[in-house]
Amino acid sequence: MENHLRGTNNEASGQRGHPMCWICQNRFFDDDFLNRHLKSEHFFCQLCDNMGSIVSFFDTQELYVHYAVEHFPCDVRDCQHMGIVFSNEEELQLHKVMIFCYRCIIITVANF
Ligand SMILES: [Zn+2]
Ligand SMILES: [Zn+2]
Ligand SMILES: [Zn+2]
Repeated sequence: MENHLRGTNNEASGQRGHPMCWICQNRFFDDDFLNRHLKSEHFFCQLCDNMGSIVSFFDTQELYVHYAVEHFPCDVRDCQHMGIVFSNEEELQLHKVMIFCYRCIIITVANF
C-alpha cells in the first residue's frame, strides 16, 4: 500500500522559516538559494520555470511523467533523452518538422 502524499508548495509557503528542499530535505537561507539548488542538483521543468513556478523532480523518470501529463513532449527517443518538450501541440509539430529537415541536412552533408 502506497500512502505517500507529498506536501510541496503548501508546506514551503506556509512557514516563513528557511525554505527546505522537498526532495533532499536540505534547508536553505532563502528561496533564491533553494531555487538555485533545485536547478543545479535536481531535475526541473523548464516550461514551468518559464511560467514562474519551479517544479523539481527526484529523477528524470518523474520529470518525463510530468512532461507527459502537463506538456507536449517529443516522442522521439533521442529528444526524450534531451528533455525536449513543448507547451502546446503546434510547437511540437513544428519541432518534428525541423527534426526531419535537420536529419536531411546531416545526410546531405555526409554524402559530399
Ligand atoms: Zn534538494
Ligand atoms: Zn512543467
Ligand atoms: Zn523531437
